[in-house]
Amino acid sequence: MNKEQASPYGQELRRMRADLLSRIELHRGGDRSRAEATADHFGHPEDSPAQVATEKDLELAIGDHEMVELNAINAALTRIDLGTYGECTDCGVDIPPARLDVAPQTPRCIHCQEAFEKH
Ligand SMILES: [Zn+2]
Repeated sequence: MNKEQASPYGQELRRMRADLLSRIELHRGGDRSRAEATADHFGHPEDSPAQVATEKDLELAIGDHEMVELNAINAALTRIDLGTYGECTDCGVDIPPARLDVAPQTPRCIHCQEAFEKH
């Protein structure tokens, strides 16, 4: 797919990236207020350490997911620049536009994605 054909997807990808970055900002803001709330409760024995650890793990998992998504969006924008956008990065087949409409950041055709997720 040439740059002109990929242009609408590029616009969508940039919009998605802006959304994601503002979500990450919001998430960091949430961290700050949660840290304050934790400080308020400091010394209260009913806040078990196990519960605190679980919440922290969840927070880290959300952060990882956002980073993976951000990387996928950036990689897709790079492929638009290179003129390889819309081709499966594994087998080189043209990814159907219907799939790109739903997930413009996707690097793989549905078959390679399924194979990738099994590993
Ligand atoms: Zn493929």
